[in-house]
Amino acid sequence: MTHRVYNFYAGPATLPYSVVKKASQAALDFNGLGLSILEISHRAKDFDNVIKEAQKDLKEIMGLSDDYHVLFLQGGASLQFHMIPLNLMLDGRPADYVNTGAWSKKAIKESKLLGETRVVASSEDTNFSYIPRELPVNDDASYLHITTNNTIFGTEFHHFPQKKSGIPLVADMSSDMLCRRLNFTDFDLIYAGAQKNMGPSGTTIVILKDELVQRASESTPTLLRYKTHTDKDSLFNTPTVFSIYVVHLVLKWIIESGGLGAIEAENRKKAGLLYGAIDEMSDFYTGTVTDKNSRSLMNVTFSLPDRELEQRFVQEAGEINMLGLKGHRSVGGIRASIYNAFPVEGVEKLVEFMKEFRSRA
Ligand SMILES: *Cc1c(COP(=O)(O)O)cnc(C)c1O
Repeated sequence: MTHRVYNFYAGPATLPYSVVKKASQAALDFNGLGLSILEISHRAKDFDNVIKEAQKDLKEIMGLSDDYHVLFLQGGASLQFHMIPLNLMLDGRPADYVNTGAWSKKAIKESKLLGETRVVASSEDTNFSYIPRELPVNDDASYLHITTNNTIFGTEFHHFPQKKSGIPLVADMSSDMLCRRLNFTDFDLIYAGAQKNMGPSGTTIVILKDELVQRASESTPTLLRYKTHTDKDSLFNTPTVFSIYVVHLVLKWIIESGGLGAIEAENRKKAGLLYGAIDEMSDFYTGTVTDKNSRSLMNVTFSLPDRELEQRFVQEAGEINMLGLKGHRSVGGIRASIYNAFPVEGVEKLVEFMKEFRSRA
């Protein structure tokens, strides 16, 4: 293996090395066609196979049937903040949101541009240090939106709103997509920017129930209508070929690793090691998530006794090849992002460093 550092960045994030290797090979010659994956037409048969297989594999991994569409769009999860209300809001029926952090707030802001928007639960009172216990589902809502993992604050939903018929459940899973088994059929629309847990930046995965596709009016801008993309199977205009190709490799890697059960076990092990260290050394490291039941498997956030120590911690970790540990500027402290492809050895190395750093601080 070439030189690899431990990449704790929140996104774009670490990918399986086997995937990076295959992608670099395909950048030279894809399928022996004498063409690079960077050059191939999005209408070519070999690329059509890639996108079809990715859709099939994703549905298989998530246990979804054919009433769901899998789309590869552009504009990031951020464009979905607007596309969702634009396509799903019904006349006279407010859109409901749970506010669990910075990304939720951005989603709420876009929804407010388009119509009545309610915040039905929030953890803003403590700077988003927990996931609200009560998650009300209103009968008159156009839909209910949650952010399953709060990348910046290190919280994650481990309990979900009650499923209510006629009230679609919409989830931003950008930073915990495919990190664990879930009843994905309880959700009506799931979206995620690829660059946290599924591939490189460029494509955004949107999974939605067929019945939701029909909601948007004819006057919705063409490229912003889900129906445009379901009708053309994500090939209405030129998609991000390379990014989709890498997502397809990551999905194969998940299947070869044993599926979401195996991925989840590995993630629980990694998060367990790190939270265990924080709890054991609580005189020095403080977890920023106050409710332990809300701790994220993907983004582990903690602080040190003062800012100066935190700066030293990040710098010294960087010197021994552990990169990206600085917390988001809006919360400070330390954030270790340990997505699916992050190796357990990297977590063990961080825990060892935490012990050593504390002993001489
Ligand atoms: C990173 C992130 C986003 C933004 O994704 P883009 O693809 O950059 O628009 C949205 N939601 C969550 C939860 C994120 O972690």
